[in-house]
Parts: sequence; C-alpha cells; structure tokens
Amino acid sequence: MKKQKTKVTCIGLDENGKGIVNIKGKEYFVSNLLPNETAIVEMKRTKYRTFIDVVKIEKASKDRVQAPCIHYGYCGGCQLQHMSQQAQDNFKQKIVVNLLKSFGKVQRIITMEEPYHYRNKVQTTFSFGRKKQIISGVYQKNSHRVIDMEKCLIHDRKADEIIQTIKGFMKSFKLLPFDEDTGRGFLRHVLIKRGFATNQVMVVLVTSSKMFPGKNNFIKALVKAHPEITTIVMNINNRKTSVVLGREEITLYGKGYIEDVLCGKKFQISAKSFYQINPVQTEILYNKAIEMARLKGNETVMDAYCGIGTISLIVSEKVKKVIGVELNKDAVRDAIRNAKNNQIKNTRFYEADASDFMVKLAHEKKKIDVVMMDPPRAGSDQKFLSSLIKLSPQKVVYVSCNPVTMKRDLHYLTKNGYKVEEIQPVDMFPQTSHVECVALLTRE
Ligand code: SAH
Repeated sequence: MKKQKTKVTCIGLDENGKGIVNIKGKEYFVSNLLPNETAIVEMKRTKYRTFIDVVKIEKASKDRVQAPCIHYGYCGGCQLQHMSQQAQDNFKQKIVVNLLKSFGKVQRIITMEEPYHYRNKVQTTFSFGRKKQIISGVYQKNSHRVIDMEKCLIHDRKADEIIQTIKGFMKSFKLLPFDEDTGRGFLRHVLIKRGFATNQVMVVLVTSSKMFPGKNNFIKALVKAHPEITTIVMNINNRKTSVVLGREEITLYGKGYIEDVLCGKKFQISAKSFYQINPVQTEILYNKAIEMARLKGNETVMDAYCGIGTISLIVSEKVKKVIGVELNKDAVRDAIRNAKNNQIKNTRFYEADASDFMVKLAHEKKKIDVVMMDPPRAGSDQKFLSSLIKLSPQKVVYVSCNPVTMKRDLHYLTKNGYKVEEIQPVDMFPQTSHVECVALLTRE
C-alpha cells in the first residue's frame, strides 16, 4: 500500500456529507472535512481503491464542532457529527433543494428537537477483541472488524444497557461470539426494538444454531436484570452472510412481538417487520403526509409499501377505504392484526409485490383516489408508476428516505400528467447524512 500526505482545500460536500477535494485534477471525497477548510490528508492507495483520511485541519470552518462521540471517525454509523446542528440542517436542506427544486419549492426541513438517542431499533455484532475478550458493537468503516462500543449517541439508551448485560452474561453462560471466518461460535448479533410509547422491549438473539445450552437460565437472568423486556426471540442465521436476520425464528419468552403507539394507533411489531426507527419524527412525517392529501372523507386510498400498516391505519378514519400492499409476509400479518386490534374495519391488506399488485389493479380498472407510497431506498419502478398513471388517482403522496430515487420517480410522474405541489424534508436521522422527504403530486 502506498501512502502519501498532501495539503487540500475542501470545495464542497457530496450527498453523503463528505468533503470534496481536488488532487492533481482528480476529485476525491473525504470524511470529516467541511467546505473552505484546508487540511493535511493522507492518501492510501491499494490496487483497487484510494482511501483518504484527514490528518490535521489547518484552517477550520465556523460550522465545525467537536464530534461528541468517542467512536466518531471509525464507526460508519454517523457522518455529520463534526458539523454544528445548524450546519447539518443546512446540508440536508441543500441536498433536497438541489435534487428536487426543478419540481417546485422545497419547504424548510423539519428538524428534531432532541437529535440524539432517537433510534428505537438497535443492532449489535459480537466478536473477540485483541485481548480475546468478548466485544460488541458495529463494524468499523470499510471493514469487517467490530468496534467495541458500549454506548452510541443515537441508540436508545435502554437498548445499549441490555446489550452490555448480555455481553456480561456470555462469559458465565459460556456463550461464544460467532466467528465469521471459521463459522464457529454461537451468538452473532443482538437486535433490540423498544416501543417508545409503551416501553415494551423485544430482544432478538441471532444465533448460528438452535442448540442453546443454558437457555432457560439465560432468559431468567436477562429478564431479571431488565424487567422491561417483554419478549425474547431467537433467530437462527447459519448462512455466510452479512444480513443480520435468518429465516427461522423461535419465541423464547413473551409474545414474540412488541407494541408501540403512533398517532394514537397501536401497532404490533415483529422481529422482521419494518418499523420506522425514529418514532418522534415519524409522527410528524405521517401527520404532514396526511395533511398534504387534504382528504374529504369519501376517498379510496392505496397505501403502497405499507409495512405493518402504519400509514393505512392512521389515515383510515379520514377516508372511506384503504388498500395496503406489502411484500414482507410478517409485516402483512402484523398489519392485519393491527387493524383488528384498533377496531378498524375499512382497511384491506395484501401480501404482494407492489408493482405486480398495481398492474393488477390497473387491469381491473379499480377506482383509487389517492395513492400514498413509501418505497424502500431503491424507490419505486416503472412497472408500478406506469400502472399508477393508468389508475390515475387525483393525488399521490410520495414518502421517501432517499431523495435521489425520489427525484427519478417524480421525474417519471411529472412527465406523465402529474404536478408536484409541495415538498417537505423531515430529519428522521440526525447526525447521519440521510434525509426523509414527503411530496404531494396532483393530476393535472
Ligand atoms: N410505510 C411503512 C413502511 C415503509 S418501508 C412505514 O412507514 O412503516 C418500505 C416497505 O416496503 C418495507 O416494509 C418493505 O418490506 C416493503 N417493500 C419492499 N419492496 C417491496 C415491493 N417490491 N413490494 C411491496 N413492498 C415492498
């Protein structure tokens, strides 16, 4: 590996919050560097890639703050901790404005009052440290080495405490961390979900096999140490993969799911179902999305990519009927149960690929007044969007966690008879470079 030190001046930020620099006519992207700063950086070249790290900031930006987390720089979880909160907000606003301004005015980003400890879902990986001690944390940036991390500033505090307890128990219960290279060991990951409104906690132990010696005593001890745990699930993942959860699941304690309350509705959440990770901002986002739709009460609404039915159930009392579609089987099961538990009778949920389902609805010439869609980061696709155009709902409310794919999809819709009326960014992921957006489109 070749190493070389150079002085650089940062000329801007890329969409991941990395500083853009120019070295000998070539553009590079450097973490922890802000516009107008000059710094000494070290370039490390391997056969395939060039890594650049800041060695010393020579002239600091007024937007720079001391990152509050001790792991910042190694951990890849947060990208913006070296920016003041104001600078983070401006950065996200600019990202969205640059991508979406051609469609219409972008409202000022809705920020989070307390932008720490907002994650209701926490995931950790177990491994051995240098001194052969058991460690747990996240992977180091660009590597598969685990950083030993007791606390994370964006995690739910209770979740981090439970993980430390489990780490402490491993020795006395003779449970070994799983080793990716040899395939030996038992505990791969722990996933914790907490309902912020209900205080119910789910612990998912992701293990390499079903054989769990000392299982009952382990559960007893864990629940005794943290009585707020309402369910423990064992998830078996014996594949060679970086995907956390395996297919098979066994409930070891409690009901196998937790509940949370969002916008006054109660939701049941399984280990594998998607649930927004920042419930405080989610309420703001959903209220905004529903407000945008300006519903009259007689509409048939389609909630595409509906997860456990959150948007569907929250919007249900304001409309005639809601049709939800979702690919994940567990999430659909949760959605159906959630409707029942909330005594909501005007929702129907379907387990299907949203695009296939949309084609079917278009073929049947179904009448849909409003489409609310909240696709994953990859966005929607032409199959879905072209059928949407055939169905020709009066309004489309598009919720997105990735403004890049949102731009692509808005482009398609605006080329095919829709007009963007409103765009609202919401900060659901403070300290990271991610930003959520909701947009209203109407048929021209
Ligand atoms: N609206 C929900 C979920 C949004 S996340 C909420 O706010 O909680 C996106 C959801 O899309 C996930 O639940 C994911 O399982 C689902 N999904 C991904 N690809 C899909 C597809 N092709 N068809 C239908 N649903 C899909």
